[in-house]
Amino acid sequence: MTAAERSISYRVEHQCPQCGAPVNLGEETLFFVCDFCRVRSCISHKGVFRYMLSPGESVPGDTDFIYLPYWRFKGVRYFCSASGVDSRFMDISQCAVNDSIEHVPASLGFRSQALPLKLIRPETRGTFLTPVSFKESIQNLDRRFKRGKQSAKPMFTEDIGEMTSLIYAPFYVSSNRLIDAVLDKPLDCHVPEDFSADRHEACRPEKETVFIPGICPSCGWDLQGRADSLALVCRNCNTLWRAHGKRLAKIRFRVFGPRDPDGVYLPFWRIRADVSGLALSSHADLVNACNLPMMARPEMKNRELHFWAPAFKIRPKVFLRLSTQLLLAQLDSETENSLHSREIHPVTLPGAEAVESIRVTLASLLKPTRDYLPALSCAEVKPTDLELIFLPFENGPHELFHPDLNIGINRNILDLSGNL
Ligand SMILES: [Zn+2]
Ligand SMILES: [Zn+2]
Repeated sequence: MTAAERSISYRVEHQCPQCGAPVNLGEETLFFVCDFCRVRSCISHKGVFRYMLSPGESVPGDTDFIYLPYWRFKGVRYFCSASGVDSRFMDISQCAVNDSIEHVPASLGFRSQALPLKLIRPETRGTFLTPVSFKESIQNLDRRFKRGKQSAKPMFTEDIGEMTSLIYAPFYVSSNRLIDAVLDKPLDCHVPEDFSADRHEACRPEKETVFIPGICPSCGWDLQGRADSLALVCRNCNTLWRAHGKRLAKIRFRVFGPRDPDGVYLPFWRIRADVSGLALSSHADLVNACNLPMMARPEMKNRELHFWAPAFKIRPKVFLRLSTQLLLAQLDSETENSLHSREIHPVTLPGAEAVESIRVTLASLLKPTRDYLPALSCAEVKPTDLELIFLPFENGPHELFHPDLNIGINRNILDLSGNL
């Protein structure tokens, strides 16, 4: 990865909703325990994450701040072409105001990465301009992106596991100039004499963020989970929960065998889906479409095909390898509905993103690729069943290993995947 592509994680200054104490967390944080009052909180965002940068200390607090929104995209884009599947990590920001405010910086730039982000609070003063849609904004972003080198023109692209957020940067007007309030430096432009933020559509972004108490809705026990985990576990009643709007919703899951008390349980999405334009409903269909050096056995005709994808973020090559290995394996086993006290790896990839990965997995697997690409590029994937499955992996010193599947995952790569 080049410097421009390196993954950056902002620091976010939160405030405990119970006692008001400051809590410093990574930007992917969805769950935290307050150091002062020990209260657990889940952060639920309606839509995307919304944060702000604070004005510099030299700027008077009673200034009329104008907060301009920037879309930030952080994630992996997969390029599918006849020569195979390529991927690229992107971490880009793009100004999300329309052209009526000229000369504002097109992106947040690297300087902001040293600064902490904050959640916008009801008492935060200032005018927050309404952003243009991400789609509209990303067209500019695509233009910037296309300048990069790229081998073959992809038939289609897919963004998987991306985090889209809105970051508001503070500005103010002084002597007809727009001043960047983070650096307290004027921009290289004059604004019209009658410039007023009131002419632009404004919003209050903090309305879209809710804190939910991190206790089990079924039994009242404390929920547990890594800060960035989408699924929180109740070890008392053996249930899994995720923030959904203003409440917690139960997650359906199963645990596959073999039982391994010392193993680590990795989460995967198991999906049944209709892929339009492709006849892929049974295991036999897959074997035929992959040109595998094996014959489809008669019983495979009756076995419904399940797609698989890791339910955790991991380097693109490994993500694709695991998805294809599991798709080919069509694993089935004895299952349980209880995690007991087993160690689980956090769920960091939503089911909807796993569904999006199906076309990419197929692009890397179906042979000959060029025959399938036209159909895949316009295929619609409609999930009919989505289930969270925990698979037991042996806990080796360097690798987690699934003996039945003969699949290994390097421990370092897994540990480093928290910031993807
Ligand atoms: Zn607290
Ligand atoms: Zn419970």
